Amino acid sequence: MTTDNRIQDLVIVGGGTAGWMAAASLQQHFAGTPLKITLVESPQIGTVGVGEATTPTIRRFYQQLGLDDLQVMRAVGGTCKLGIQFNHWRQPGHSFFHPFSVFGQDLDGVAFHHYWLRAREIGLDVPITDFSLGASLALDGRFSPPSPRPPSTLSVYDWALHLDAGRFAELLRDIAVERGVTHLRDTIVDVRQGENGFIRSLQLASGAEICGDLFIDCSGFNGLLIEKTLNTGFEDWGHWLLCDSAWVAQTERGGEPAPYTKVDAHCAGWRWRIPLQHRDGNGHVFSSRYRDKDQARKEFVDSLESAPTAEPRLLRFLPGRRKQAWNRNVIALGLAAGFLEPLESTSIAMIETGIARIKQLFPDRSFAPEIIDEFNEDTRLEYERVRDFLILHYALNRRQDSDFWRDCRQMWLNGDLPQTLQKKMALFKLRGHLIRYRWEMFQPASWLAIYAGFGLLPQSCDPAAERLSGKKLVESLRAMRAGVQQAVQQAPAHGEFLARYCGTA
Ligand code: FAD
Repeated sequence: MTTDNRIQDLVIVGGGTAGWMAAASLQQHFAGTPLKITLVESPQIGTVGVGEATTPTIRRFYQQLGLDDLQVMRAVGGTCKLGIQFNHWRQPGHSFFHPFSVFGQDLDGVAFHHYWLRAREIGLDVPITDFSLGASLALDGRFSPPSPRPPSTLSVYDWALHLDAGRFAELLRDIAVERGVTHLRDTIVDVRQGENGFIRSLQLASGAEICGDLFIDCSGFNGLLIEKTLNTGFEDWGHWLLCDSAWVAQTERGGEPAPYTKVDAHCAGWRWRIPLQHRDGNGHVFSSRYRDKDQARKEFVDSLESAPTAEPRLLRFLPGRRKQAWNRNVIALGLAAGFLEPLESTSIAMIETGIARIKQLFPDRSFAPEIIDEFNEDTRLEYERVRDFLILHYALNRRQDSDFWRDCRQMWLNGDLPQTLQKKMALFKLRGHLIRYRWEMFQPASWLAIYAGFGLLPQSCDPAAERLSGKKLVESLRAMRAGVQQAVQQAPAHGEFLARYCGTA
């Protein structure tokens, strides 16, 4: 096999979460090959420093690097996350939970939620989360890792981590550097391109020049290579996702850490609370079109359980994605590729899938357009699927207390949502159909959690669910619920789990 055309030098720009995830993972993947990986990060330009709630795929990501859960949790001050509690979203005072789990057990080939819907019709009106062990553990403040051999789907749940973003990047940096990544602390001051527009080299403040065949742009919101240099363009989704700003602050650890992320709806946005072992992360995401930043800051600070440990920081963002995640010899990852608000903690998960795609479609120096198109198409689809899922959370609200929430719902009622989402919602409303598209990050169970949480229920359910008599149906559901409750009682409190395995006080 000829090696002439192989990529020899891969340069990663940026040492935030995206840069170090890419460096550690690609170094591991290409170990033993001639590929050289260099990461350059500016000591002057900081990282965004947020990104502390994750989805369960993060665990698969670090496990592939040879790290185990407890090792990572100790290193990053991590706590366990079984899902997200949504408070006041449907309407003030209302609460629901989106777990990382399926609900109940399918019976005779009919999906569980059809039985649940039918049971409601005949009088057994219990929240669907009662049939999720993950949700039930979380809401009882308990945690125990799922059984590797669950006896039935009733015991199937997954979990993720709340982590200190800075410490996570450091952990990955140490692994990447130890395994052979060259690390440069320098600021890129100029970018040199060849005649075809491909990036040839990066000029550094120290006077050094780094050449590369392939560049991964992890430089954050600015997109130093993908946008500032290549002018790739940005698809702005601000007309669907109205939030564009966030106040963020840390507070001291207060009380028992919840094994889930809390997100509370506010007048023109929402607020998160992420418990770590050593502190809490807080943020208030809001729409600057509906809320003045100082007013939002005051609401945020007033809502904190204790005084922030430092002045709250304001971050501005544009919801949307880069028109091409891969342009010429530059692939954007992380904030350089796009941003969707952190309501479902999807950014780090999209870094993981971006890295997986890079491995799968790794080019040679001919940069075949078919490969680039495939990468861009898959990335586009994934971003659009996440976008739709996030919009759903706003469209279904029934709050009447501000223009922000009324306008969000009106978008749906006016038929102004993306067609892909309108179609999905219509199919669910008709007969509880849960459709999963290609490159969809969220499973049908997640869509169900949001539909049910907001009280959007179908007009009818699968007629096959009538195969079970009403009496048998109620008995089966009661037995499932009792099984979940029994399992919950056997699990330790989340704080106790952390103390036992992570040595927290
Ligand atoms: P950054 O962290 O901004 O890093 C950029 C890097 O580029 C830095 O190292 C910088 O030094 C370097 N750089 C820039 N310019 C130059 C230059 N000229 N020369 C050299 N180096 C340069 N994600 C989640 O998954 N969960 C969450 O809960 C979550 N919450 C979020 C909340 C908010 C308000 C925001 C804004 C984001 C959140 N995210 C979350 C997203 C998450 O923070 C990012 O996806 C993640 O941190 C990756 O950032 P990054 O590495 O792309 O960019």
